[in-house]
Amino acid sequence: MTVRPVPAAGDRSPVRAVLLDVDGTLVVGGRAIPGAASTLGRLREGGIQIRLLTNIDSRTPETVCRELAVAGIEVPCEAVFTPVVAALRFLEQHPSERCHLLLTAELAARFAAHDAGTGRADYVLVGDCREVGGYAQLDAAFRRLMDGARLLALQRGRWWQAADGPSLDTGAFVALLEHASGQTARGFGKPSADFFEMALADLGCAPAEVLVVGDDPETDAAGARTVGAPCVLVRTGKFGSRGGVVGEGHPGVAAVIDSIADLPALLEADFGILGR
Ligand SMILES: [Mg+2]
Repeated sequence: MTVRPVPAAGDRSPVRAVLLDVDGTLVVGGRAIPGAASTLGRLREGGIQIRLLTNIDSRTPETVCRELAVAGIEVPCEAVFTPVVAALRFLEQHPSERCHLLLTAELAARFAAHDAGTGRADYVLVGDCREVGGYAQLDAAFRRLMDGARLLALQRGRWWQAADGPSLDTGAFVALLEHASGQTARGFGKPSADFFEMALADLGCAPAEVLVVGDDPETDAAGARTVGAPCVLVRTGKFGSRGGVVGEGHPGVAAVIDSIADLPALLEADFGILGR
């Protein structure tokens, strides 16, 4: 993984956009973290662009957008960047290639145009495995890999913080298929540099002009580092579940705040924006 230097505080460009994680940063268990909606409001008032950069790989970006609205967090659906968006863009550039899908039913429908069905598969595309992680399904995917298909992973998180405790994430199943097949998967979500660069291109911003905000040093902070963007970690969600021992002093982490509610004050104090 390439790592670009993060500018020191005195050398920072003005922040023009914030790339926000969703689970653990804006919501936990489908409920908004106190202050999330008002922080987004302050960013909008301050003319700061917003993109939600999330590794959610069980449902479509439109579903994520609707769920956030129900939780009281209103963002345009185009602002929601997930590995689904990145994988669809990749497959649209390879229109004749087909995938064996290891995805939830909702996402399998979204990728239907790229579904190999019973025909030859160029790729095995793995996302959230809650509905498809049984032996027979994993073995069928493994056989496709042994027949020459290449392994694609929507994301490779090891675990995620469910409302009732830590749960297996897609990366655990990807690792299983990698181990069995000897392949290394191409990953689409955080911390892949391509994913962050897609959001930067969409915003028209340089890495130094954005701030990455998230609860996970392995995806949010590590991903920010791959493009040389500063990252702020929040102590909610996954970070909080581990007692906050990881992150302080983590390379590329500009600050650690208790929650998203503290972001406006930080931007005012340390980044010179949003002042009233
Ligand atoms: Mg998170």
